[in-house]
Amino acid sequence: MTLLYRSTRGKADNALTASAAILQGLSPDGGLYVPTEKPQLDLNLNDLPGLTYQQVAFNVLSAFLTDFNAEELKACVNAAYDDKFDDAAIAPVSHHGKDFYLELFHGPTIAFKDLALSILPHLMTTAAKKQHFDKQIVILTATSGDTGKAAMAGFADVADTQIIVFYPKQGVSAIQKQQMITQPGANTHVVAIDGNFDQAQTNVKEIFNDDAFKQEIAAKGYQFSSANSINIGRLVPQVAYYFYAYGQLIKQNAIKAGDKINFTVPTGNFGDILAGYYAKELGLPINRLICASNQNNVLTDFFETGYYDRVRPFFTTTSPSMDILVSSNLERLIFRAVGSDATQTSAYMHELESAGHYQVKPETLAFLKETFSAGSATGDADAQAIASVFKEDGFAIDPHTAVAKAVADQYRDATGDDTPMVIVSTASPYKFPNAVLSAIEGHDESADGLDAIAQLKDTINVPLPPTIQKLFDAPVRHNLAVNANEMKEAISKILKIG
Ligand SMILES: *Cc1c(COP(=O)(O)O)cnc(C)c1O
Repeated sequence: MTLLYRSTRGKADNALTASAAILQGLSPDGGLYVPTEKPQLDLNLNDLPGLTYQQVAFNVLSAFLTDFNAEELKACVNAAYDDKFDDAAIAPVSHHGKDFYLELFHGPTIAFKDLALSILPHLMTTAAKKQHFDKQIVILTATSGDTGKAAMAGFADVADTQIIVFYPKQGVSAIQKQQMITQPGANTHVVAIDGNFDQAQTNVKEIFNDDAFKQEIAAKGYQFSSANSINIGRLVPQVAYYFYAYGQLIKQNAIKAGDKINFTVPTGNFGDILAGYYAKELGLPINRLICASNQNNVLTDFFETGYYDRVRPFFTTTSPSMDILVSSNLERLIFRAVGSDATQTSAYMHELESAGHYQVKPETLAFLKETFSAGSATGDADAQAIASVFKEDGFAIDPHTAVAKAVADQYRDATGDDTPMVIVSTASPYKFPNAVLSAIEGHDESADGLDAIAQLKDTINVPLPPTIQKLFDAPVRHNLAVNANEMKEAISKILKIG
């Protein structure tokens, strides 16, 4: 049986195969692709502790991407989860205090997006072959720092792909800039722009919709695509680490197969926690999924009241990957919660776009509350979590993980629920050295960049991840800089068009 994918805003009879959905990215009606039926996972919980990360990932991908054969999926998994990761377990689980930490920061950019972006390029090129696609895929991305680098690390030297990343010259940290301009790979291209992230993002969207330009590049054998987090090819690989974490807990004698566990997930675009929901639907014994937000707590309010309201102040916090007011992947959960009603989902999303808010029905909210809890870390709760976890357990966590830890503690205090808790740990402390140092030392730390990394190393005594170690010796490979209104010309130049 082939599992098909449909749009959350369109008719079920327009469903596509997984490979077609991965190549499409976003559905033409603006909706996101979701499976039309429950995937069938062929995995026994008792076997989980004996499986490698690659084996678990293979099983999960086989359930979702049924038009890929076993050989193709194995090749994708092995190309993605190799020694690019600095821990052979890929996603190890550590135990500190009352909590388990699922460490998703052992990849090339020391943050969780590596788990999906290291495999997406291979899924895309395999999908392109299956669909007899005769063009090179050109990935276009505007980045505020992290996604662009993680996407380049994934796409570097993958055959028949090019990746072009635009970043705002003044808008990224010293470390992020260094990571990008030293990116290896003959098919990677980095362009600094004079302008801010929003301009870069708007111009990329315009280029995606520019039919004349698309025809021009098609004549040269290229087609644009996107690696952003609404692609089903990014979501599905993330389901794997929920199963893998469960196996690790059995292996560590923390639970027996069949026992329930909780996950607290630091949430931005809702991709990570949605993958947890898919894992639960596939049969993983998850008691509760706890959605953790920072001061931008639109999701906390939503899970409390059923009212999603993006019209509110936007805060810039120390956990920038969660500074989001519109969580795109929530649409996939809403679609499930309204009984796969695309008309209703579409109406909510249009209301969100035009008026900035929508209210779900009481029964929809009740459905969500069966599985989800939510909370936010405000004030300096995240800094306090960094300081206390380090003091009590000698374990350094990054500000995103700290938001989750603070919310997990609030949840336990409020409910008394003592189900084993896994905190999804999405970045290495070395990714945010200044914030982590400030929290541990209890005062604002002025050191930044390499200095902050060196000081943090002295403080927490954790070896530097190899990618960081190499960073400041690596040669600069990219120095193209243009105005925000010259991005199209930059693309033409890179692809040698015209
Ligand atoms: C992207 C990101 C998140 C948020 O994940 P979503 O899937 O967008 O909810 C959390 N932490 C870090 C470090 C991230 O990079």
